[in-house]
Amino acid sequence: MLFKDKVWLSSPTMHGEELKYVTEAYKTNWMSTVGKNINEVERLACEKIGCKYAVALSAGTAALHLSSKLAGEALYGMSKTAHGALEGRKVFCSDMTFDATVNPIAYENGEAVFIDTEYDTWNMDPAALEKAFEIYPEVRLVVVAHLYGTPGKIDEIRDICKKHSALIVEDAAESFGATYKGKQTGSFGDYSIISFNGNKIITGSSGGMFLTDSKEDAEKERKWSTQSREAASWYEHEEIGYNYRMSNVIAGVVRGQMPYLEEHIAQKKAIYMRYKEGLKGLPVQMNPYNAKDSEPNFWLSCLLIDKSAMCKQVRGETEALYVHESGKTCPTEILEALAKENAEGRPIWKPMHLQPIYRMNAFITADGNGRAKTNAYIEGSSMDNGADIFARGLCLPSDNKMAPDVQDQIIEIIRGCFK
Ligand SMILES: *Cc1c(COP(=O)(O)O)cnc(C)c1O
Repeated sequence: MLFKDKVWLSSPTMHGEELKYVTEAYKTNWMSTVGKNINEVERLACEKIGCKYAVALSAGTAALHLSSKLAGEALYGMSKTAHGALEGRKVFCSDMTFDATVNPIAYENGEAVFIDTEYDTWNMDPAALEKAFEIYPEVRLVVVAHLYGTPGKIDEIRDICKKHSALIVEDAAESFGATYKGKQTGSFGDYSIISFNGNKIITGSSGGMFLTDSKEDAEKERKWSTQSREAASWYEHEEIGYNYRMSNVIAGVVRGQMPYLEEHIAQKKAIYMRYKEGLKGLPVQMNPYNAKDSEPNFWLSCLLIDKSAMCKQVRGETEALYVHESGKTCPTEILEALAKENAEGRPIWKPMHLQPIYRMNAFITADGNGRAKTNAYIEGSSMDNGADIFARGLCLPSDNKMAPDVQDQIIEIIRGCFK
């Protein structure tokens, strides 16, 4: 085992100020879901992202859930049942993403329709979205994520949504601090969210934030997230409520992290550039971005192996098999080689249309075909873009505390897989 200390994919990086604000909460006894830390992180998030209102919540997932509820009620009126804001409605969603992006559609009894991925930024393909509107012109909601901290094709997607009078939920959970045409991600949706989960670019150990310019929406989320109390001295309830508010202790951690966002981004960018340089000459590319339009936060560095350099690889529901060939490799082989030396990589997010839980949901590709023909990487096999990137891609150790010499050894392990 090469590394005595595990090399993480992305672990929390603390600076000391977190403890100061957590201790302050403790000493002043604001050990609840009210307090100065919460007010401050909401103010700081608005300031950074350039939106008018922010509501601090227990998780990014909670923010996505309340966003889908807000969108559902704005589009289709007050829901008659507790979780029916999107009852029977189709919603277009990013396909290659974490399932937390799309599950909230199911929480409100909506039906996610998955939109294939493009190769330029690994995000929702505007051409596939356009196709989806041709097939389902009645759809009015689109949930779009910025994968691994790289902004998607925002202008194209916004234009298409505008044309079809559709609202956007923007999942910027992974991309806090990334910009598109000079504007922060988290400012492009009708409803936007970020996450402070433990492995994100900055963290509260957990936590999330809803972002908006609408005072009314912010007030609704605040109310729903604190059990939907009415303005009475007793507990009066006209609407279903949730216990989704951020704790003032967690907010202390986030508050201490906020000043370090740009520093973390610079470290992550250096890691990305070091990989790019170190892997030169191999038949691979890094997760791409459009440098003309966007500046990612470089949360995770990823690899895509050229088709011509892929050995045979087959994945079942829980296991993978591959056959090593000289000069070729596959994500499974590289991940095994890294794990053997105590370094943590990860497969690309498995696309939602390949997930057993969503097997009955529609999936739309740019050519309108949908559905992968196969989940195995065998030369000449036909795949949609998402299944292809999943088959050939992987996330590399991207921890901002990884020393340059450790990263160089990681690069050597990867090179070894191509021998
Ligand atoms: C982490 C993540 C979420 C969920 O955020 P939590 O704070 O963990 O609930 C949602 N979407 C994406 C793309 C994520 O990476």
